[in-house]
Amino acid sequence: MSTPTTPYWVAGRPRTGTDPVEVRSPHDGAVAGRTTTASAEDVEAAVAAAHGVRAEYAATPAHVRSAALDHVSRRLAERSEEIAALITAESGKPLKWARLEVARAVSTFRWGAEEARRWSGTLQRLDTDPAATGRMALVRRAPRGPVLGIAPFNFPLNLVAHKVAPAIAVGAPIVLKPAPATPLSALLLGEVLAETELPAGAWSVLPVPDEVAARLVRDPRLPVVSFTGSVPVGWSIRESAPRKHVTLELGGNAAVVVAPDQDDDALAWAAGRIATFAMYQAGQSCISVQRVFAHRDVAGTLTERVVEAVQKLVTGDPTDEATDVGPLIDEQAARRVEGWVDEAVAAGARVLTGGARDGASYAPTVLTDVPADAKVSCEEVFGPVVVLDPVDSVDEAFARVNDSRFGLQAGVFTRDLQVAFRAAQVLEVGGVVVGDVPSFRADQMPYGGVKDSGTGREGVHAAMEDLTEERVLVLTGI
Ligand code: NAD
Repeated sequence: MSTPTTPYWVAGRPRTGTDPVEVRSPHDGAVAGRTTTASAEDVEAAVAAAHGVRAEYAATPAHVRSAALDHVSRRLAERSEEIAALITAESGKPLKWARLEVARAVSTFRWGAEEARRWSGTLQRLDTDPAATGRMALVRRAPRGPVLGIAPFNFPLNLVAHKVAPAIAVGAPIVLKPAPATPLSALLLGEVLAETELPAGAWSVLPVPDEVAARLVRDPRLPVVSFTGSVPVGWSIRESAPRKHVTLELGGNAAVVVAPDQDDDALAWAAGRIATFAMYQAGQSCISVQRVFAHRDVAGTLTERVVEAVQKLVTGDPTDEATDVGPLIDEQAARRVEGWVDEAVAAGARVLTGGARDGASYAPTVLTDVPADAKVSCEEVFGPVVVLDPVDSVDEAFARVNDSRFGLQAGVFTRDLQVAFRAAQVLEVGGVVVGDVPSFRADQMPYGGVKDSGTGREGVHAAMEDLTEERVLVLTGI
């Protein structure tokens, strides 16, 4: 039986183009689904519809938008097994992590519904100034305009949810471009969105080549660009659209600090978390653990335990419920990781476990004695590789964390409150997680990076603020 062609979505309606796209699993090349590239006419229709509906949509009552968000959340929950299987099929993400991703998207839309109900304004008195006696200001936030959302492959549903839910919550039309390797989950989300009462033009999902996306970045009818993806593409978008409001959620080389106050139980916990979250999704998460700076007093024990825990991870078929680590997104990505590890080894690094490639899969790998200028230390590996480095003090560890052009999140394992507060003060990152790895994100929390890792914040409420700007109504004679 041949696989049906999944439509793309233009102003809330299903469309099929003529240019076929086949999506295959990176694990075994099995066909995950088929779709088509959006035609030039359809791209134009989606943008024109978003532009045309912007005023009407911004005025849509909150109950309509929150009901739509609740509906999407409920339907994703009802269809969760089907969607998790689709995420696994198109991205090679192990089923256990795909299920978690769907659960996260369910929560993102539910949180969006709640925020849409709460989204309001403030009343400010102005009569503190004699010239403004008898005046007050009503300050509300209005959408900056239609949003171009561009998503990466590594969370094909949830990072799309993080763009779509806040846009619906504030009434900003969104034209979404999913990643070329993983368009199917976003197109399925389109099916669910089509069941809502949102006005035509409020949303479109367009699989388009990067050149078309680059043109959309420059289209003045989409004044907001919300981009999640790699560092070079992100900053090039910012440069090509200087007058737009651009949010960049980019890559990193997230670090963990382990303080000398960690006893045996604490080290066991830290090692398990480091092993899991250096390798989950085959390291293809912007906040997966890449660099570990452990105090010399505990580094030996920690290293042994991390290696043990990594060796226990189950690798292989992502559709198998037991699998912890599946393939990377394609063989080219695995070859790149292989090249970087080989280069570090040639410069003196030691492989404590792993270090082998099989097609698109790379074995979970622990390295030590890595030179500071090796790519596995100073670039974003985006693969199942972790670098362990002993340090002589917590302050040295903090300095090493900061010795990076990236700054997304950091994790600090300590029981010392002073160390925790100092971490929050000195680490150049968007967020510090004390007592766990940096690979943590909750929908209600602002999330984003500093330095090359990006600009602006997501997280439903933070993104709603990001997609809107303040508008003031001054009331006289009250
Ligand atoms: P990528 O930059 O290659 O692609 C991201 C998206 O941009 C894709 O949809 C792609 O088709 C599109 N794109 C590529 N060139 C473009 C152009 N010139 N104009 C407009 N759009 C263009 O990234 P990827 O490989 O899909 O994702 C991995 C990267 O994403 C990693 O660096 C990772 O750290 C980052 N990421 C960041 C976060 C975060 O929240 N900070 C989350 C997940 C992933």
